[in-house]
Amino acid sequence: MRPTSLIADLEQPLIDLGAKPVHVRRLLRTWLNALPEDAGRSKPEHFLPQAVREALPGWRTMLDGLARLHSQHPGEDGSARLLVDLADGQQVESVLLQRDGLCVSTQVGCAVGCVFCMTGREGLIRQVGSAEIVAQVALARRLRRVRKVVFMGMGEPAHNLDNVMAAIELLGTVGGIGHKELVFSTVGDERVFERLPQGPVKPALALSLHTTKADLRARLLPRAPRYEPAELLARGEAYARATGYPMQVQWTLLRGVNDGADELDALVELMRGKYAVLNMIPYNSVPDLPFERPDWDEAAAIARHLHRRGVLTKLRQSAGQDVDGGCGQLRARAAGERPV
Ligand code: SF4
Repeated sequence: MRPTSLIADLEQPLIDLGAKPVHVRRLLRTWLNALPEDAGRSKPEHFLPQAVREALPGWRTMLDGLARLHSQHPGEDGSARLLVDLADGQQVESVLLQRDGLCVSTQVGCAVGCVFCMTGREGLIRQVGSAEIVAQVALARRLRRVRKVVFMGMGEPAHNLDNVMAAIELLGTVGGIGHKELVFSTVGDERVFERLPQGPVKPALALSLHTTKADLRARLLPRAPRYEPAELLARGEAYARATGYPMQVQWTLLRGVNDGADELDALVELMRGKYAVLNMIPYNSVPDLPFERPDWDEAAAIARHLHRRGVLTKLRQSAGQDVDGGCGQLRARAAGERPV
């Protein structure tokens, strides 16, 4: 269950050989910001001690081996799902999003067990190390530009907090990503509300709400902390006001489950006056799970209704849903295809 590699583990070998921290940061910046056309064009690093220069090829091979592209699945909407091999043979999914975004995974599997999620079905297999999280960004940048990173892939970032915070710090500094373009997504966890305000890089916050009813939320997200929805949003909003960027409230729209008038009325009350935006995402159907995706027109009508009643609502498509690859499905399918 131990993360395979911490960023400090990557830096230390070079420091032991005589590199200064500033040099290591420069090398990491080069690796993390490389574009497709940079392949094979790295310049000699004359500023480094010779022992470090000699060790660099092995170091770069180690970095590149943290996350390798297994397969790419483009969607009609301009997004693309990536199945990514980690060094120990585990796999995670990343998603290239429209407008230079990337969704990364923070765990292999997940312990929250949301009943509508493929990833939640297999439980937690292992944490994704901070360097492996950053490596997903480096890999994606070799395919296209990435200026926004959302931590909404496989896993619950709050359950891997040290690694996610370390990755956020690196991405928000040497990775050159604006702090509000880093989006920490969580079902809600006390440690998140304590730690996020203390970090040197403060990401935007997205809270997965999905329903206004605490009892229904406990059934849909069985191992999420038991917050009353109003309390959860109050905690998130305090952080949003402190950082100056609005809280994102995530609502996966499940036909017949959380799309009724009672839910929408309660949602209007909960969101009233909040420094927040509602992201409504029609569910991406998963075979064998008993949840249905509402029609796009139905979802659009719900979003318009909420908007008219004062809730800033963005209706979003689940990226690449036409490739039949909701979170965790590519990995599950590949695992099914692998010989055992
Ligand atoms: Fe985990 Fe997110 Fe899936 Fe819930 S929806 S089980 S938090 S990966």
